[in-house]
Amino acid sequence: MEVFVINQHSEALMPCTPRKARLLLKSGKAKVVRRNPFTIQLKYGSTGYKQDLTLGVDTGHNEVGLSVVSETKEVFSAVAKMRNDISEKMDTRRMYRRQKRNRLRYRKPRFNNRSASTIKGRLAPSVQWIVDAHTRMINQFKSLLPITKLVLETGLFDMAKMKNPEIRNKQYQKGVQYGFENTKAYILSRDSHQCQSKKKGCSNKLEIHHIKYRSQGGSDAPNNLITLCQKHHKALHAGKLKLTIKHHKSLRSATTMNIIRQRLLSIYPDAVETFGYVTKANRYKHNIVKTHANDAFVIAGGFNQKRTEERAIKFKRKNNRSLQKNRNGYAPTIRRQRYAIQPKDLVAFEGKQYKAVGIQNKGAYLKMTDGVKTMVKSVKKVKIIFYQKGLVYV
Ligand SMILES: [Zn+2]
Ligand SMILES: [Zn+2]
Repeated sequence: MEVFVINQHSEALMPCTPRKARLLLKSGKAKVVRRNPFTIQLKYGSTGYKQDLTLGVDTGHNEVGLSVVSETKEVFSAVAKMRNDISEKMDTRRMYRRQKRNRLRYRKPRFNNRSASTIKGRLAPSVQWIVDAHTRMINQFKSLLPITKLVLETGLFDMAKMKNPEIRNKQYQKGVQYGFENTKAYILSRDSHQCQSKKKGCSNKLEIHHIKYRSQGGSDAPNNLITLCQKHHKALHAGKLKLTIKHHKSLRSATTMNIIRQRLLSIYPDAVETFGYVTKANRYKHNIVKTHANDAFVIAGGFNQKRTEERAIKFKRKNNRSLQKNRNGYAPTIRRQRYAIQPKDLVAFEGKQYKAVGIQNKGAYLKMTDGVKTMVKSVKKVKIIFYQKGLVYV
């Protein structure tokens, strides 16, 4: 597992091995500045060793792949699991607040002051969180590694190009033939990766069929294309099958991902945009199986570089900001204070390290664990070592 290194001016350098880090720390040439991800800062020396690195991000609302690649090796690889409990949490909060306003004490209704339509540019909290999660990770990577180029895969295919095939996107990665591949990715997606023959017994391989044949002047426009399995495609061309398509479907636009895409591209105007079908073609070319980490590796320009161990990134909701909690059978409890020590922080007690579990007795005691057993001690006797961040590298 790599250790991140920054120089005395807090600029990111190439990461080093734990062994090297231990030597630097032991000899007093470096100090620990961060525990997760483990980062050391050089106390002396020159600006240090740097290489041009590319960060590739397979964006998404479920899992996000990230990979940092140099010309010779992959320097960092991670897959982040996105939180998907935001809207549920917002519903709970809304319930509490409504109750407080209506039943516990009267206040003027304020119900229409925070919807996306009321405040310009405001995103739904769940969408905003995903945008923020991407920028948090990208910014952190940029602060820990000498990244010079950012490549974002923002979707499966280029929607803008679908609408206007004349568009030439300067930002594409090189190395793949685009045009029809983009359209194919779109058609497959539109047809939900299913044979549209409405017949049973489909074969596995999917193909794209021109409804009006190319030879008869049929175009590559989406409304002339349809997904068929190999078996039914063959049967159709042999005249053993008739298609019964009246109207053409259009793809229900992936609105959420499109909003996220637009936000990210405006936050990182220098980022290079790429698409899933390009990544897929590059993966095939270099015989790489599909995972989020592999996708990110390919997006970052990886093909035969030496790989690194895949890490996981988790988002921990560390600070519970809700003040009121209703407990069944009890009066609502109102928290009056935010405590200095929060769950998952690292604390020291009698020279040993513990992980905080939670505050008890209105801030007087701390429950903590060393991984084996838990204990409760007075907060006056424990010292905080490290405030756990919301971004956790496993
Ligand atoms: Zn079929
Ligand atoms: Zn055909």
